[in-house]
Amino acid sequence: MTPRIAVIGAGLAGLACATGLRRAGFPVTVLDKGRGPGGRMSARRVETPRGQVTFDHGAQYFTARAPGFRAQVEAWALDGVCAPWPAAGDDAWVGTPAMNAPIRALAQPLEVVWGRRVETLVSRAKGWTLIAEGAAPLEAEIVILAVPAEQAADLLDAHDPAGARLARATPAAPCWTLMASFPERLPVAADIFRSDGVIGWAARNNAKPGRGDTEAWVIQASPQWSAAHLEDPAEAVAGALAGAFAELAGVAWPAPLSLAAHRWRYARSGTADAEALWSPQAGLGICGDWLIGPRVECAWLSGQALARKVAAAPA
Ligand SMILES: Cc1cc2nc3c(=O)[nH]c(=O)nc-3n(C[C@H](O)[C@H](O)[C@H](O)COP(=O)(O)OP(=O)(O)OC[C@H]3O[C@@H](n4cnc5c(N)ncnc54)[C@H](O)[C@@H]3O)c2cc1C
Repeated sequence: MTPRIAVIGAGLAGLACATGLRRAGFPVTVLDKGRGPGGRMSARRVETPRGQVTFDHGAQYFTARAPGFRAQVEAWALDGVCAPWPAAGDDAWVGTPAMNAPIRALAQPLEVVWGRRVETLVSRAKGWTLIAEGAAPLEAEIVILAVPAEQAADLLDAHDPAGARLARATPAAPCWTLMASFPERLPVAADIFRSDGVIGWAARNNAKPGRGDTEAWVIQASPQWSAAHLEDPAEAVAGALAGAFAELAGVAWPAPLSLAAHRWRYARSGTADAEALWSPQAGLGICGDWLIGPRVECAWLSGQALARKVAAAPA
């Protein structure tokens, strides 16, 4: 009998893995705690007096260097769900019309259940039961964990102590992110600022292809500043980042149309140097950016690698 597979996490790694497994003929269900597609490639819609503005509030752009991912990105470009963004680099790409578009496209042909947080894994004689609050337990012969390292560690503790240790040894850096829209274009020529002070990165979101006209900036605190201010209230963080950005860009901070700060507790992952982990005996696989490195491309490569391993040696 072909084993049924449950993938926990519908970020790029989980969806790349689920896509590969589905192509290999496995029945796959993907569960994600989020309300919609994105994970750390998500986009935030904000209502303003000038209408809706969408911010890429996680990943800002991605590169495609490995041949397999390059082919995937070129296919997405043909489908209109990503485009080059030369302002960020010769090989920089962004989702269009927002960063989550490739995630949406990958999820579309798959069975994905949104708003489903898996809290506990129960090991059975041959397979797993996934427990999520407010939903019937789900049974599967194979479980794939495609979540950030810190969240993987919690689910792995009872079943794979070595995997849990590896995940805990690969912590992610946090990132406070400010999203601000304005009635007028800021008098700043550059679309991107990179710095190693308070602000790590700031970008004019509407300079990316397909974003519309409203002036909108995504301003990310550096990992060091984010860690030092992790528990600060969002309003205080918004004020501090607005001030630091105004100083960096050399502008007065005008009254914004909208202003929101988002705290990513787990933003840029560590690097476990493991590609993807698969135990056919346990029917347990692990993928995600943190197995390779803190980038979009790494998440896709890890998910694809795990699908190949599982298809070659199913549980
Ligand atoms: C602020 C920020 C800036 C970044 N900038 C860049 C950049 O410029 N370039 C770049 O290449 N990369 C960047 N990254 C990193 C990039 O976004 C990630 O490497 C990549 O998106 C990770 O994909 P993933 O599938 O491994 O994890 P995720 O996208 O985190 O997906 C994991 C999914 O698992 C779900 N989940 C977690 N726990 C559970 C559970 N218990 N039950 C069900 N679902 C669960 C989550 O909701 C999430 O959707 C950035 C990330 C952040 C946050």
